[in-house]
Amino acid sequence: MGYVRKTCPICGREFIVLKKVEEKAIYCTLKCLSTSRGEMRREKVSSFVPI
Ligand SMILES: [Zn+2]
Repeated sequence: MGYVRKTCPICGREFIVLKKVEEKAIYCTLKCLSTSRGEMRREKVSSFVPI
């Protein structure tokens, strides 16, 4: 089975995933996944705040 080396967009750390889950695996850990979701939510909320 092949492995692919990827770089986590949250913490910048390199990690290795199975090639068949390459497209799904974006973050190195669940913590980074939830961090990215939290940031997305924050961006969404801030875009609704009236100036
Ligand atoms: Zn990470």
